[in-house]
Amino acid sequence: EPVIGTRIGEDHVNYVLMYNMLTGIRVGVSRCSAKFPRELTDADFKAAHKLAFDITGNELTPSAKYDFKFKDYAPWVFRHLRDQFYIDPADYLVSLTSKYILSELNSPGKSGSFFYFSRDYRFIIKTIHHTEHKFLRKILKEYYMHIKENPNTLLSRFYGLHRVKLPRGSKIHFVVMNNLFPPHRDIHEIYDLKGSTVGREYTKADEQSKGAVLKDLNWTKRNRRLELGPIKRKLFVEQLEKDVELLKRMNIMDYSLLVGLHDMSRGNKDNIREGILTVFEPDTKKLERAPSHHKRESKVSALRKAVVSTDPLNLSSTKLILDAFTDRQRQRHCVFYTDDGGFAATDESNYRTNYIYYLGVIDILTPYNTAKKVEHAWKSLSHDKHNISAVNPIFYGERFLDFMVKTIKHNDDLPKEEMSESNA
Ligand code: ATP
Ligand code: CA
Ligand code: CA
Repeated sequence: EPVIGTRIGEDHVNYVLMYNMLTGIRVGVSRCSAKFPRELTDADFKAAHKLAFDITGNELTPSAKYDFKFKDYAPWVFRHLRDQFYIDPADYLVSLTSKYILSELNSPGKSGSFFYFSRDYRFIIKTIHHTEHKFLRKILKEYYMHIKENPNTLLSRFYGLHRVKLPRGSKIHFVVMNNLFPPHRDIHEIYDLKGSTVGREYTKADEQSKGAVLKDLNWTKRNRRLELGPIKRKLFVEQLEKDVELLKRMNIMDYSLLVGLHDMSRGNKDNIREGILTVFEPDTKKLERAPSHHKRESKVSALRKAVVSTDPLNLSSTKLILDAFTDRQRQRHCVFYTDDGGFAATDESNYRTNYIYYLGVIDILTPYNTAKKVEHAWKSLSHDKHNISAVNPIFYGERFLDFMVKTIKHNDDLPKEEMSESNA
């Protein structure tokens, strides 16, 4: 099944790689998390810590099944990022490394990257090209600042950047990030949208099958729209504008809006991941636990104390504080991931309809470099140059945003062609 992927057992070709990745994460992340919290410095963004694992082990690194080297990039920055995204440090390590189980996504992109899911499907490990790794380090500070200023960002959430080096010398870089799709809901259709049309159609015979990743032309041919009433429309467009602004400024292109559709009228009946959920039922107590950052924690516990110490007869003030408290709790979740892990469709009166969208901007580590320029020059010989994907980042971003904004359903919607005619 394409949605689940292949569970990596000891006989799998990538078992050793997986083992080494998880061992490195377990040791590197727990070491950093054990330290007393502190503010970031400029040096933290450039930092890279080396760990050498071998079968015997030493006082710094425990013994491992294999010999390999591990590099942990900017561990303090990613610790702060995980905190910013309300990822509990213990949950993170348990999800990724408690059982050493990952499954490999069968048919990922053309880039040659491998994708692995944590056993509870919350996290994805993506192996990335050396150039993407270098690029992420280069933009890390800007990315971090953006995340801090935009708690509702739709951009990929990076939780870690690491490298494994095997004894024969091959180096594999990888990121840990959020899985946009929930483990507990069927995703009935998946679209990878770029706002470009050339080559943007999935035409294989299994187009109707679960897990097929469809593209822009499938979306428009099926007349799909994002159904968002005024409130959600505003939230979504404003956030997407801010996110695309950063991508343009960082010279990034080739990214997509990944959209998973859950149709509530179809429900969950063919949920092939159900079995997984019952085996790995989420620990709800842990999910409700306050975040680890001491500053935030102290605010939350201050609120808690205030609630407890408030005169019970003075209900209005108790209620005020309680509201403030639940409001903080609500803020823990990005607004686009609050409706059962996603963003529920709404009509023009802001009432929920039958869909839940699971969406985010993915594949954001490709800068506009010479390779892309070559592709552009070559492709524009045979195509309208505005419709191919390798255009400059400013144009890419504007076309991307334009497509997403126009694909939001309005009550007074005119067919697209008429709209562009009346604009001309
Ligand atoms: P290419 O460069 O050829 O587009 P890639 O290897 O860089 O491919 P991505 O575009 O990042 O890969 O992702 C490929 C597919 O993997 C996506 O279309 C999507 O189906 C899935 N995927 C990627 N990131 C996520 C995520 N965060 N959550 C859920 N699914 C994802
Ligand atoms: Ca892609
Ligand atoms: Ca890519």
